Amino acid sequence: MKQYDYIAIGGGSGGVASARRAAEYGARVLLVEAARLGGTCVNVGCVPKKVMWYASNIAQTLRDASGYGFDAPARRFDWNTLKARRDAYIARLNGIYANMLDTAGVDVVEGFARFVDAHTIEVDGQRYSAPHIVIATGGRPAVPDIAGAELGIDSDGFFALDRQPRRVAVVGAGYIAVELAGVFNGLGTQVDMLVRGPHLLRPFDAMLRDELAEQMQASGVRLNFGVQPEAVSRQADGSLRIACGDGKVFEADALVWATGRRPNTDRLNLAAAGLAADDKGVIHTDAFQNTTAPGIYAIGDITGQAELTPVAIAAGRKLAARLFLNQPDSRLDYDCIPTVIFSHPPIGTVGLTEDEARKRFAEVKVYTTRFTAMYHALTEHRPRTAMKLVCEGADERIVGLHAIGDGADEMLQGFAVAVRMGARKADFDRTIAIHPTSAEELVTLR
Ligand code: FAD
Ligand code: NDP
Repeated sequence: MKQYDYIAIGGGSGGVASARRAAEYGARVLLVEAARLGGTCVNVGCVPKKVMWYASNIAQTLRDASGYGFDAPARRFDWNTLKARRDAYIARLNGIYANMLDTAGVDVVEGFARFVDAHTIEVDGQRYSAPHIVIATGGRPAVPDIAGAELGIDSDGFFALDRQPRRVAVVGAGYIAVELAGVFNGLGTQVDMLVRGPHLLRPFDAMLRDELAEQMQASGVRLNFGVQPEAVSRQADGSLRIACGDGKVFEADALVWATGRRPNTDRLNLAAAGLAADDKGVIHTDAFQNTTAPGIYAIGDITGQAELTPVAIAAGRKLAARLFLNQPDSRLDYDCIPTVIFSHPPIGTVGLTEDEARKRFAEVKVYTTRFTAMYHALTEHRPRTAMKLVCEGADERIVGLHAIGDGADEMLQGFAVAVRMGARKADFDRTIAIHPTSAEELVTLR
């Protein structure tokens, strides 16, 4: 039995960050990873997704170029070249993660960890023990249980595609569905989105939902609302037939399930540690990432809160500081987490939606603007930018900031600092605009 101070199960965003910090603070640390270092974000999430998003943006820029006097037709796009270069970049990142852990003095074991008891895990027959164990095992795509579902792919399968489908059906309306639909569409695949509800991005501010739907439609994505797939079959020509309720049928060369994710808890043998996940597989924690079993913690997607890489990282680092840097109050504040959806166009959002603010506060004032960004003054493709500030109380504290349009992704981080600090509308008004930008609209709203 090998003895450590701290064991991280899972070498993704949360596990790596927490393990490195704990080692930096002097703990003897083991990290166990069943697949590839970097986890979802590096291998089948944020990173390869952003590469594909950039590719789609380049395709759009090439289409826009003629408006600026360039004769720059995109003669050929080779999906496989892009995939090979993207995969090579990710392999480099895997190596960088291994080096970083090595430099930090973290022992890394490849394999699948299972609990033996509350302080012991087993990996390939070898046992390891520690007084503190953090579960950071993330999640995996969830696919509806219908006939022929296996004929579709999920987001992991999207990254494995070595050919660009001519027609694709994307099921779902969350982050992954709108991001992948935007990438496919930008690169020239015909996209049908099959959405069970009446909206894209159900939990988001109505302005964002409506603008995104309108702009995706304007750029050629076919949005099909109120559609629920019931069976999938392969046709004689190799294409897929997706039969939905109400007799609706869709045909596509590929089907992507973007219908949410489920936590990786089922094979951890949690019962041996005196722990249980809820019926969705989520491990609940208190505000300090403590589970109900003393000495066992959970961070990241497995906890079912704000499934974002920086959240997993921050929770992991705060936990390491609490356990090994003698900072008993160290914990992540889950309020006011900014997030970007890399749709086309991108969305940046922080704080409350207008509806949430109206439910929570007596006095709410909302400022909005819609305009065409200057870049598009000369292009044929003229997507709109829309922004909203949601303010509360007589002194108009900004409790929500929502933007959709080119640049919203990079714009948000700085504004999130201001919102987090409790900025008032008057603080924005006092800030001199930067001209000509889209961001300046947020400090000149009336
Ligand atoms: P993960 O990163 O999933 O890591 C968990 C690791 O644990 C995995 O490597 C897994 O192999 C390993 N593991 C599981 N079980 C065991 C076991 N028993 N033993 C050993 N190892 C085990 N977030 C953003 O902030 N921005 C984005 O742009 C973004 N884009 C995304 C795009 C996609 C397509 C997806 C799917 C997700 C995206 N996310 C994004 C979310 C982000 O990837 C996750 O929130 C983040 O990776 C969660 O980190 P984690 O440490 O909780 O888990
Ligand atoms: P989401 O929870 O965002 O969306 C799931 C979507 O699938 C919803 O539209 C939901 O519909 C729909 N759905 C669920 N079950 C079914 C079903 N059986 N049939 C039809 N539709 C169904 O999950 P994602 O998988 O898109 O993303 C997972 C998480 O990963 C995100 O929540 C986010 O935290 C993170 N992520 C972050 C990104 C970023 O930061 N840019 C990018 C990608 C992922 P309904 O709305 O009706 O419930």
